[in-house]
Amino acid sequence: MISVTHALETVLNAAKRLPPISVSLHEALGKVLAQNVHAVDPLPPYPASVKDGYAVVAADGPGEYPVIAESRAGDDAVGVTVTPGTVAYVTTGGPIPDGADAVVQVEDTEKVNSASDEIDRVRILVKTNQGNDIRPVGVDIEKDAVVLTSGEILGASEIGLLAAVGATTVKVYPTPTIAVLSTGDELVEPSTGHLSRGQIRDSNRAMLLAAAVQHHCKVVDLGIAKDDEESQGRILDKAFASGINILITSGGVSMGDKDFIRPLLEKRGKLHFDKVSIKPGKPFTFAEIDSQSTESKILAFGLPGNPVSSSVCFHLFVVPAIRQLAGWTNPHHLRVQARLQQPIKTDQFRPEYHRATVIWTDNDGTGSPGFVAKSTGHQRSSRLLSMKSANAFLEFPATGSVVSAGTPVAAIIISNLTPVDFAKNHISSDSNFAPPGIKSNKITTDSSGSADLRVAILTVSDTVAAGAGPDRSGPRAVSVINSSSERLGGAKVVATSVVPDNVAKIQDILRRWSDNEQMDLIITLGGTGFTSRDVTPEATKELIEKETPGLLYVMMQESLKVTPSAMLSRSAAGIRGSTLIINMPGNPNAVAECTEALLPALKHGLKQLRGDKREKHPRHIPHAEAVPTDVWERSYMSATGAGGSEVSCSCCK
Ligand code: AMP
Ligand code: MG
Repeated sequence: MISVTHALETVLNAAKRLPPISVSLHEALGKVLAQNVHAVDPLPPYPASVKDGYAVVAADGPGEYPVIAESRAGDDAVGVTVTPGTVAYVTTGGPIPDGADAVVQVEDTEKVNSASDEIDRVRILVKTNQGNDIRPVGVDIEKDAVVLTSGEILGASEIGLLAAVGATTVKVYPTPTIAVLSTGDELVEPSTGHLSRGQIRDSNRAMLLAAAVQHHCKVVDLGIAKDDEESQGRILDKAFASGINILITSGGVSMGDKDFIRPLLEKRGKLHFDKVSIKPGKPFTFAEIDSQSTESKILAFGLPGNPVSSSVCFHLFVVPAIRQLAGWTNPHHLRVQARLQQPIKTDQFRPEYHRATVIWTDNDGTGSPGFVAKSTGHQRSSRLLSMKSANAFLEFPATGSVVSAGTPVAAIIISNLTPVDFAKNHISSDSNFAPPGIKSNKITTDSSGSADLRVAILTVSDTVAAGAGPDRSGPRAVSVINSSSERLGGAKVVATSVVPDNVAKIQDILRRWSDNEQMDLIITLGGTGFTSRDVTPEATKELIEKETPGLLYVMMQESLKVTPSAMLSRSAAGIRGSTLIINMPGNPNAVAECTEALLPALKHGLKQLRGDKREKHPRHIPHAEAVPTDVWERSYMSATGAGGSEVSCSCCK
C-alpha cells in the first residue's frame, strides 16, 4: 500500500502532456495555449472617442460652435476635418476626425435651437485639455504586443482577447479523451424503474462522465460490464484500441473473487499500484497501457466501486492527470486554510479526505474574516450525499484523534467556491458528529457582548499559525472557560486567535485585546517552555504593569500534582490596565488543570479589576505607540504632553 503523495507522484510521472493541435476559437475554451499570440494591429486601430460628445479643438474653449459633421462608432470619418471654431458630433468608440484634439462629453454641452435648414450648433460649457476623452491608437493593445503566452489557460476573457486580435485558430494542448466503464453484476441502468432484489442503479458512470466533462474532456461511455473476466477483457481491449487517453473503471478492484480489473490491467500494461493508504478509496489500481492508435500511453484508473471512494479518487488523482495531459504547468488543486465548524474524528490508520463545504465568513471564530469548513455529515464511502455540496476535502493525517471545532485545517478545493447556504446544507440526522463542544464558532470580538466578564484566548504556536497542525489547546480552553462560566462570575470567551511564536505578534494582539477591546481576562496558551522559540512570557512581561505571582504559584502547585514537567513552564501573569493576562502552557490538559487551580479566587480577582475599570478609567489610555483616536484620548495626550514618549496613567504605574 502506498501513500497518497507517492501515488499522485506516480500518476503525474506517467501523465505526459499531449501533442498540441490547432483548434478554432469556439473549441479553445478551457484548453492550455501552446503558442504565443501577438496583436496583428493596434487596439483601438484609430483614435477613438471615450464618450458620446463633441470632438473639439481644445484651445477653442467654451462657447457656441457649429456642428460640422458626425462621427459615430462604425463610421470611418475619412475626409472630415474639424477646424478651429467648429466641432463634430462623436459617439463612444467613434473615430476622432482630423483636426480635433479633445472630446467634450454631451453632459457638458447644450444644444442650441436652430432652424431645420440651418447647420446644428452646440454650446460647449467647459474648458477642456488636449487628449481629453480620446483613446489614442494602441492604448489598449499595442501592435505586435504579446497578448497571451504559451501555457496560459483559455477562459472566457482569454477567448475574448483571441477574438480581439483576430486569432481565430490557435494551437492548444488537447484535453484528454476519457472512457468510463462501470463494473458489477448488481448494476442496472439509472433509467430502471423497479429494482429487483440485489440490484442498484449505476451512479458512478453518470457521475464520472459528468466530472470528466466538467474538466473539458471528451468522453466515451463504455456502459456497464458484468463481473465476468472475459467480457470485461473484451471491453477493455476495444476501448484501448479506440484512441482514448484515459480509462476509468469503477468497481471490481478489491478482494472479492469477482474483482477482475486489477489482473486485467496488469496483463495489458504496467501496473503501478493497486492500493493507496487513503480513506476513502483504499483499493485503487493505476496502470499504464500501450496505445495501439496513439503515440501516448493510456492511463488506466481502476477506481473503487463505492461512489464516494470513486469520486474522491477521481478528484485527487484523475483530475491532476487530466490537467497534466492537457498542458497545465501546475496540475495541483488549490489548498486553503479553513477553520472547522464542528469537531471531526480522524481515522487512526489512513489519512482521511473529509468532504466539506468551505465558505468565506466575516468571522471564522477568531473575530476575523476567514474560511470556515462544514462537514457534509456522515462520511460512509457509499453515502454519495456526503459529496453533495462538498467543494473541498479536508485533509486529516492518520492520528485517530478528534480535531476540535475552530481548528484551522488544510482544505483541498475541488470545485468553485460558490456561495453555499450553510443552513440548507445541513448535516443529516445520521451524522456521526457529536454537537461541537464549543457550541459554534460564533466567538466574536463584539464589545457589546452579553458576557459579564469577557475572556480572550490566544494560542501561541508556529505550527498552528502556519496551518501545519491543529490547534488542540485553543478550543479546549474555550470549552473549559465557558463550562466554568458561572464559577468565574459569568466569564465567557468572546475572542480567540492564533499567533506564531513571535514577540511582536504576541504583543500586538495582547495590546489590542487589553487596551482597545478591554478584555477582562486574556489567557495565552503555549510558548512557555525552554526552547529558543518559546517567547510568550518575555512578550507578556514587557506589557504587564502589575505582576500577579500568586496565580503562577497556584497554577504550578496544581499542575505539579499531575505533571512533574510542569516545573519547566516559565509562565508570566499580571495586570495591564484592567485586563488580567495569564500565560498557560500549550498542552491542552494544562489549560484545564491551570484553570481549575485558579477557579476559587479568579472570579474575585476579575471582579476587582472590573471595579477598577469602571471607577477609574472609562477607557484605558494606550501607551506611547498608540494612535490617539478620540477626543478624550487626544485631550489627555496633549494635556500630558504625550507625543511619542512613554507615558503612564495611574493604573499603569
Ligand atoms: P466493488 O468495488 O465492486 O466491490 O463495489 C463496492 C461497492 O460499490 C458495492 O456496494 C457496489 O455495489 C458499489 N458500486 C460499485 N459500482 C457502482 C456503481 N457504478 N454505482 C453505484 N455503486 C456501485
Ligand atoms: Mg463489484
